[in-house]
Amino acid sequence: MKAGSIGSNIIFHPILFAIFPILSVFSYNVRELSFQETFLPLFLVLTFTVGIWISLRYILKNARKSAFIISLLLVLFFSFGHVYNLVDDVTIDGFDIGKSRYLLIPFLISLVVGVYYFIKTNRKLNNATTITNFITITLILIVSVNIGTFYIANDENFSDDKTIVNSFFSMTDSEPIFTQPDKSGSPDVYYIILDGYAGTNSLKEFLGFDNQKFVTFLSDRGFYVHPQSYSNYPTTPTSMAATLNMQYVNKLADIVGSDLDDMHPTFEIIQENLVDETKKFDFYYCEDDTLLDNKVINSILHQSIIGYFAEKVRYQEYRDGILCAFSELPEIKNIDEPTFLYAHFNMPHAPYIFSANGEPLDPARQSNLGSSGNVNDYINYLKFTNMKMQKLVEHLLETDDPPIIIIQSDHGSGFNLDWENPTDDMLREKMSNFQAFYLPNGHSSLMSEATTPVNIFRVLFNSHFNENHEILTDKIFWVLWNKPYDFKDITNVLNVEN
Ligand SMILES: [Zn+2]
Repeated sequence: MKAGSIGSNIIFHPILFAIFPILSVFSYNVRELSFQETFLPLFLVLTFTVGIWISLRYILKNARKSAFIISLLLVLFFSFGHVYNLVDDVTIDGFDIGKSRYLLIPFLISLVVGVYYFIKTNRKLNNATTITNFITITLILIVSVNIGTFYIANDENFSDDKTIVNSFFSMTDSEPIFTQPDKSGSPDVYYIILDGYAGTNSLKEFLGFDNQKFVTFLSDRGFYVHPQSYSNYPTTPTSMAATLNMQYVNKLADIVGSDLDDMHPTFEIIQENLVDETKKFDFYYCEDDTLLDNKVINSILHQSIIGYFAEKVRYQEYRDGILCAFSELPEIKNIDEPTFLYAHFNMPHAPYIFSANGEPLDPARQSNLGSSGNVNDYINYLKFTNMKMQKLVEHLLETDDPPIIIIQSDHGSGFNLDWENPTDDMLREKMSNFQAFYLPNGHSSLMSEATTPVNIFRVLFNSHFNENHEILTDKIFWVLWNKPYDFKDITNVLNVEN
């Protein structure tokens, strides 16, 4: 063995090229993901890589050549979406080279030429192996430093800490008067969140759509539809955390600090929430699990060379999930115990995957989501949402023993929203939400007191479960995605009547 060839005798670059995209996605989303979510993708990609590597080595009888071929394959496979994003909208002589099918050509040529070269070359590839090993170590080091920095900066591990959940269960701001659950005779509760469903006034004013037909449908069936309600917070997790805990979540800032950029404390009080804790009901989350629900896998495949197909599969899974949930929701009435069903539909929120009539729709690419060009798609998806909700409501009320039904959105629409510098109109569009309530025996209008979601379960438990919760002053707070605990009171901008 020659001196200096030691580094080239250990070949590990394919392994690191396989791990890198996963760590990179994790590093990019570290504030929302937990490290365990990388285990499945790591297992899959390593199995795949090692499997092909062993086969190639057997065929080529050369460890270095087969390693380079597998590394090339991994790089081309995982980098496709990034290259696509770089050259998206780049045109040469009016020819859009960013169209994914054109971009496939140079990728496939690189693959064929590269594989051919590595098979045919007479070089030993010792230096190349050393250099490539070194490059992969550098890549891994860079993402590891990013991840490490996050964990050092946010050194508290909130996931094992019960302080947060306990502080929300103690309800210091009001008298905790939960009645001893007398489960017999309580109705089921259908709590349906329509993510990003804009309020009626806002739909008309900002998006030019008159939603009166749906409102009339609900009113005719005994719903109370709030004429002008507002969400307490503009982002889904924070809004849901407040609603399900029947209180403002601003005290999270006291516990974790307003500078923290980590969603886990918020996720925790959604997972273990006060409405569930009251134990009035069996609590059900309506969810469907698929492989692509793993955010790391989804994100990596999305950027890979099969991103186009992964997206198609993903959207079909979304569609199946939504249709399946709608068909299975009414089944809970067959459960004897009073049941609380929490169904969170990502509709009419983007991606807009159904037409107004319910035909499958392939949405525009992610980079275009949220732009004003999509208002039409949003309205059509909202029409489809209305259609599904009407059928569901009719089905649920087809009984002598009707349930409680809450239809609510976590926030409104936000077309052309500038999060950092929102105008008053932008705030009104984003915060104006939808809230409709059905209580049995003509009691729906008791819910009119719930102008913002933080009071929904206070009013409901007071009016239907004989409890005595203070009705909180309606307040509305602005908060940014990357500063989820830095709350800005915008109540006076919105003229909320208290
Ligand atoms: Zn939302």
